[in-house]
Amino acid sequence: MFNTRHRPRLVVIFLTIVTASFFIATASASSGDRHPLYQKCLQNCITTQCAPSSPAKTLSPMLRLFRWTCRDDCSYQCTHQVTSALLQHPDPHERVHHQYHGKWPFWRVWGMQEPASVLFSLGNFWVHWNGWRKVRRRVNDSIAVKWWMMALAVVQMNTWFWSAVFHTRDTPFTEKMDYFSATLTITFTVHYTLLRLFNLFPYPPQRPSTPRARYLLSLTFVVLYVAHISYLLSTPRFDYGWNILFNTSLGAIHLSLWSIFSLRFSVKLPFPLALIPTPYPPLDPLQISPKPRYSKMSAVLVLATTAAMSFELFDFPPFARILDAHSLWHAATIGIARGWYEFMIRDASMLEAARMTYDPTGVGRMADKMASEAKASATLGGSRQFVEHHR
Ligand SMILES: [Zn+2]
Repeated sequence: MFNTRHRPRLVVIFLTIVTASFFIATASASSGDRHPLYQKCLQNCITTQCAPSSPAKTLSPMLRLFRWTCRDDCSYQCTHQVTSALLQHPDPHERVHHQYHGKWPFWRVWGMQEPASVLFSLGNFWVHWNGWRKVRRRVNDSIAVKWWMMALAVVQMNTWFWSAVFHTRDTPFTEKMDYFSATLTITFTVHYTLLRLFNLFPYPPQRPSTPRARYLLSLTFVVLYVAHISYLLSTPRFDYGWNILFNTSLGAIHLSLWSIFSLRFSVKLPFPLALIPTPYPPLDPLQISPKPRYSKMSAVLVLATTAAMSFELFDFPPFARILDAHSLWHAATIGIARGWYEFMIRDASMLEAARMTYDPTGVGRMADKMASEAKASATLGGSRQFVEHHR
């Protein structure tokens, strides 16, 4: 859809809009809780139901399990009462969907605040769990990048676990765990991408041991992550602006690197981009024939991720008080993550095929053959030693 020449400019525009929309969303986040109807309802509810002298309000076991208090429940009830009243208001100017305490009004389910986002977070968790199992079964142990792919899946499972917890119940603790885990995922993903694209792992027979640059790269990313989290924990108010800038910057690096990876199969890149090692050394990507079927997939996936992120820009009131833009962004990443595992497994097969053959006219076919055989043997629950068959 977009011309490659315009892509860097589009990324900058996209990042600017994301950052700006975040500040706008934050500034107008609480119009509902300042509304006189809401204030009156809340005060009345707390005085009649939560005061020590009033008869104790009974919360269901599920609400108590998710630590809802009497005040929280009053706020929830008033949010929906006021929303319903305003949406039926005779004056059309008053028929406005407001946010309350920075959130849209959602119907809760079994005490879960944002059930759609919880469901889609668990969907993402399942995809990464499934991805971890696929990598373990279908990628040969001799491919060093396999262990990083499995670690990446674990990091992402942790992120989606905390996302499900945060959307179940928003507290300062669950919010931090969600944000810090999401940052860990994007940091680890960029680390994986650099490690993969610069081939910073053992690559026998050319390089039997781990290069020193890998340790330096890992140390840099550990320091970067620790410094970022330390800063966020050291400020009296959580610096949302800096956090989103940090994450979107890493996201832009990720987008650029995988786009470069895909471009290498069709164009000769200029200096300094040409300094990035070729995808499958020692082969020249322009000479590989047939082109690997997944050579364009990484660019398609990063663009799909960017497109899905646009749900965050078009923040709209939840449909039927259930589905909002944020939950749709979580729904979109389920399909994208599935695509990433297919790509990473094919990529690992290509790497192994390139290592075994120096013939650029056979490597694409060999990688496809290896990937389909690995899939077949994994489906049958069979051998992980499929590569040995080709030696
Ligand atoms: Zn979320």
